[in-house]
Amino acid sequence: MQPEHLRAVVYVLSSVAFIIGLKQLSHPRSARRGNLIAAAGMLLAIVATMAMPTSEGRMLGNIGLILAAMALGTLIGWISARRVPMTAMPQMVSLFNGMGGGCAAAIALLEMVHASEDGTRLEPAAASMIAASAIIGSVSLSGSLVAFAKLQGILERSFRFRGQNVANSAIAAAALVLSGIVVAQGEANPAMLAGSVALALLYGIAFVVPIGGADMPVVISFLNSCTGVAAAFGGLYYRNHVMLTGGIVVGAAGMLLTLLMARAMNRSVLNVLFSHFGETAGASGGASHRTMRSITPDDAAVLLGYARDVVIVPGYGLAVAQGQHALVKLASELERRGVRVRYAIHPVAGRMPGHMNVLLAEANVPYEQLVEMEAINPDMPQVDVVLVVGANDVVNPAARTDPSSPLWGMPIIDADRARNVIVIKRSMNPGYAGVDNALFYLPNTSMLFGDAKAMLEAVLENVKSL
Ligand code: NDP
Repeated sequence: MQPEHLRAVVYVLSSVAFIIGLKQLSHPRSARRGNLIAAAGMLLAIVATMAMPTSEGRMLGNIGLILAAMALGTLIGWISARRVPMTAMPQMVSLFNGMGGGCAAAIALLEMVHASEDGTRLEPAAASMIAASAIIGSVSLSGSLVAFAKLQGILERSFRFRGQNVANSAIAAAALVLSGIVVAQGEANPAMLAGSVALALLYGIAFVVPIGGADMPVVISFLNSCTGVAAAFGGLYYRNHVMLTGGIVVGAAGMLLTLLMARAMNRSVLNVLFSHFGETAGASGGASHRTMRSITPDDAAVLLGYARDVVIVPGYGLAVAQGQHALVKLASELERRGVRVRYAIHPVAGRMPGHMNVLLAEANVPYEQLVEMEAINPDMPQVDVVLVVGANDVVNPAARTDPSSPLWGMPIIDADRARNVIVIKRSMNPGYAGVDNALFYLPNTSMLFGDAKAMLEAVLENVKSL
């Protein structure tokens, strides 16, 4: 077999690995394997690209430089992935995603420079692919960096003004016009494309800056999809099948995830991206006039230890406290006493999709005990105790009862409908959406104030001595 044919075969194998890997990522049990399969596919594609000639018989140059850059990138990626705490994962994904978009844009710009140096005429189709890759990749780069800064707490304010969407659209239109001129000219024009890239970078910033922190995971997923599309355009330009497939897979997966997250919040993607919600801070409902009941770990142990049916609702606070192992020990002790224990999983609990599944999997919770929100809600009136651990927005009944609440319409876990509710959190502070939670003031709710891990350990000790 000719080496260039062998390369095509390897590319097909890599593409298949991407698709199988993605499929396996859809379940926590197979996700780790899926990640490895997709990574192996990528390694295969890189080796084939570097070691085998293209269909025109050309070999890749600058191998030493490429290897050095790869070694540096691998080292940075390895260290940051090992060091990053689980709760900071969305920021890291955002940063890595931005780098992908930046790469696509840089490659597109370089192709334009090469075409200009060689005096090559660019067909409209080829010029459009280069321009699309440059613009979309640039938006993804600057937008992801802003999303990173917001989640990392570097950028705390959301800048908003009247007519912001119109101003932003004008920037996007200007970027498109410059690229349109490049395509229409038919000859390489790196300066014009660079102008378009600068405007696209500005648009990425202007687009993400007004969006509130609570919506950042959706924005990141959307920008991830953009990076995939930018890479796919690059793949089309180079007629590189593995780049094209990889780009399409990332683009489609990112867009599906965006749609699923928006649906889980009962909002449209357009509402998330352009209504500039997500930071509607301020308690609603006159919290100060209402009373709530605070209990001790001892009281909580009695409620839980003598219950028949307990449902645990984990949330972001459990991840912050790293209380998953303590939670599982408490659940096992309750089960030993004959209590039925299940975990209710809300699709957007935590700070990224699947956050709670990953957290509980770390503590070896059997998947059979994880119950989706829609499946557990009808059982709630029969549940003796709902134990809410570091969750807030996902159990806020205002989503069902208060049309003026920013959470109105978001599907929630109906913890308030259970016979008793115990909420473990450190204070009366609101959750990510910044709104007060009526659940905390209901007569069947008891607040157990403290760090989730410490409180779970204290409750466990008390259950043991019942
Ligand atoms: P929330 O952010 O609503 O609430 C978390 C609660 O945990 C806080 O009220 C906090 O209260 C408490 N907490 C923090 N640290 C600790 C600790 N060490 N020990 C005990 N409690 C602690 O979390 P939810 O999981 O309920 O909801 C997720 C939110 O994120 C939703 O608004 C959702 O829309 C949003 N979101 C999630 C996405 C996802 O993909 N998962 C995507 C987009 C948005 P206190 O400070 O008093 O302790």
